[in-house]
Amino acid sequence: MITKLLDEHLTKQIIKAYKNSKTRLIFLDYDGTLIDFNFDPEESIPDDDLKQILQRLSEDKKNKVVIISGRDKETLDKWLSEFDVDIVAEHGAWMRCSGGKFETLANIDDNWKKEILDIMESYVDRTPGSFIENKNCSVVWHYRKVETGLSEIRTRELISHMKYITTNKHLQIIEGDKVLEVKTFEINKGKAASAILDKTEVDFILSCGDDATDEDTFLAIPEDSFTVKVGSTASVAKYSVASYEVIRKLLSRLIEN
Ligand SMILES: [Mg+2]
Repeated sequence: MITKLLDEHLTKQIIKAYKNSKTRLIFLDYDGTLIDFNFDPEESIPDDDLKQILQRLSEDKKNKVVIISGRDKETLDKWLSEFDVDIVAEHGAWMRCSGGKFETLANIDDNWKKEILDIMESYVDRTPGSFIENKNCSVVWHYRKVETGLSEIRTRELISHMKYITTNKHLQIIEGDKVLEVKTFEINKGKAASAILDKTEVDFILSCGDDATDEDTFLAIPEDSFTVKVGSTASVAKYSVASYEVIRKLLSRLIEN
């Protein structure tokens, strides 16, 4: 399947399908999809423009909006609880219906974490500016603030170092934007999306995302869904757009009367 650039003609097709549908499910990744990638991950708070889009999209009773992100649930809850949206956090490790409590999808074995953390710590010691984030179901090495040449060398080293361990343990290394994340294969956005789909009757599905992990969502949802990849890297999505700004424009046009 070839990913097509989302042009005006295709955009109108999505808008038409949206307007003609009675119940809709909209999966939206957060970072890089709804908001620009920020130097400091703590600063990616929804701006007024995004707030307005989320507000209007989620207040339409025909819509079920799901923010499906790799971020931790506390941050997503803090930033998004004012909206009537479902939240999937940490790539599907946690889910929360709008207004409800976070529930975990699985009994997650995290005995693997210690070994990965030990390795990452040795890289933090040797890589000024890098740091570790220990999430509930994954561990992340952040290198945004590391000098470019050094970060490239260390990233390659760390990947090959961790590959010895991850291959035998059903662990996955995800190369994100200035992060390396290790999580278990048991958890992915696709499984979370499937779980939500099982409980929902809909006649319109839209899914937007920019990361490798969003491919799991694209693969898990029915073929007649509208899938939109942000960025130019290879994707199983039907359509691609250049930036989060195009996603915002698309969503804004959907909620126009
Ligand atoms: Mg993203």
